[in-house]
Amino acid sequence: MPIKFNPEQIQQFKLQARIHSRSSGSSRTSELDQIANQHGFESWALLMKHAGPETQTNASSLDQFADIVRGNEFATYFSPAPTKCDMCRKDLSDEKYFVDAVIRNSTTWACMCEKCFNELGAGIAWGEGQLYQNQRNSRWLMVGGFPPIAP
Ligand SMILES: [Zn+2]
Repeated sequence: MPIKFNPEQIQQFKLQARIHSRSSGSSRTSELDQIANQHGFESWALLMKHAGPETQTNASSLDQFADIVRGNEFATYFSPAPTKCDMCRKDLSDEKYFVDAVIRNSTTWACMCEKCFNELGAGIAWGEGQLYQNQRNSRWLMVGGFPPIAP
């Protein structure tokens, strides 16, 4: 019987891994793998497969990339706030997320709504794209694709 996880549980797992990796000194990735092990999966990647789109009908496919805890630590807001998707000109004010990302197979950056990002975006990672979450006050908090931490 496959085990399903909702986005809130995934967020909870990520938070646990973060807290554990701080206290134990091990990497967040290995802590995530350990949490996956506890739920009967060989790795975090396999667990995430089970938290697939069919379990997230009311959720955004971008939820899995959003790390609100880290976002609040970085406290980086997109400024000035975008109003429309650069690709389809859709109004972003009712969107949960937008992504400032490289257009696939190009070097051009654009602010994309979720749909355009899924079709055209290179990815969410440093150098590929940053994920921003709508804070409902015309502010957009960076919650994914964080810059690498200086050694
Ligand atoms: Zn769009």
